Amino acid sequence: MTTTGPIDRVVLTHVQIPFKEPFWIVGGEVAIKDAILVEVESASGVGLGECSPMASLLAGRSGLAETCWEDLATQIVPDLLGRGFADVDEIVAVASGWRASPFAIAGAETALWDLLGQGLHASIAELLVASGLRIDRGIESGLAIGLYASIVELIQAIEVHLSAGYRRVKIPIRPGQDIESVRAVRQHFGDVPLMVDARGTYTSAEIDVFRELDDFDLLMFEQPMAPDDLDGLAALQKAVATPVCLDETATSLDRTAEAIRRGAGRIVNLKLQQLGGLGPAREIHNLCYREGVQCWVGAMPELGIGQAHAIHLATLSNCKYPSDVGPSARWFVDDVTIPLVELSETGTIAVPTRPGLGYLLDPVKLRRYQVRREEFAR
Ligand SMILES: [Mg+2]
Repeated sequence: MTTTGPIDRVVLTHVQIPFKEPFWIVGGEVAIKDAILVEVESASGVGLGECSPMASLLAGRSGLAETCWEDLATQIVPDLLGRGFADVDEIVAVASGWRASPFAIAGAETALWDLLGQGLHASIAELLVASGLRIDRGIESGLAIGLYASIVELIQAIEVHLSAGYRRVKIPIRPGQDIESVRAVRQHFGDVPLMVDARGTYTSAEIDVFRELDDFDLLMFEQPMAPDDLDGLAALQKAVATPVCLDETATSLDRTAEAIRRGAGRIVNLKLQQLGGLGPAREIHNLCYREGVQCWVGAMPELGIGQAHAIHLATLSNCKYPSDVGPSARWFVDDVTIPLVELSETGTIAVPTRPGLGYLLDPVKLRRYQVRREEFAR
């Protein structure tokens, strides 16, 4: 007997929702958020997941919505129909056999956690720690700011959002747009917890930039160099006191273990979409804990279903910094969840305690923003 009972039906819905402002990715900007919502149905309920591709140069074809749809429809969904799941280990085992875009895997894998949680009457946060731990605190939310043409616009953007209560500020940097931006933010906002994300845009020839940034008491330098430039990242980490954070480098357990072994960073950003779901994210979280490396939970960003899964992940004990997970209203003109993801006045987001994910899809919103929908039944 499985906990979930056999999966009878899977529904994929591709939605497009405009960003409020263009979102900076490596290689350009995007104005529309693509997401494929995954509904996995059995006798124990409907599990929800989000495949949230971002078409950046780093993600390549695997970051395209079309590729993800193909992977889900032709490989993952046929493997799910008729299958039931007894526990988390079975989800991890089955998902690890999928040779597909990590975004597509994340969409289906997280939906299975939701379904299993409903079958076991446990929230996903409880499944993650595999005990009856009660989660009665929210997770801390950090403000992430986009790339602006001028420092004045950057400062204005932070000013507009920071009063909402966020626990830290993250600004993008790239060569030529770095030290002066950080100096200006420090002058305007004093000792606000501050970090920078370079998205892999520097080389080891530019370590001096980070030596200067080292004086600004930043929480971390996120992904200063290209994902595979472990030598450059390690040389930088040796040269500065500020911790280097691995984001695009940390795409799998093996790559993360290798990067940590070589001294390429002291903090890891866990992203469900990049890692292919909650199982791999938990495994890397536990590796980091054993290695004395701290974690936090990043976002692509995702719509509400994807962010809700990340909220549960961020309750793990080695997640020591505020998350990029933020309220629905931060990036998108609308969202598809009930309720919307909300920020408290103290900059936290509540962790749902209901079985499974604790968020639902709004059918009206889903219909409003859908560009493609398909039902699969056994
Ligand atoms: Mg990043």
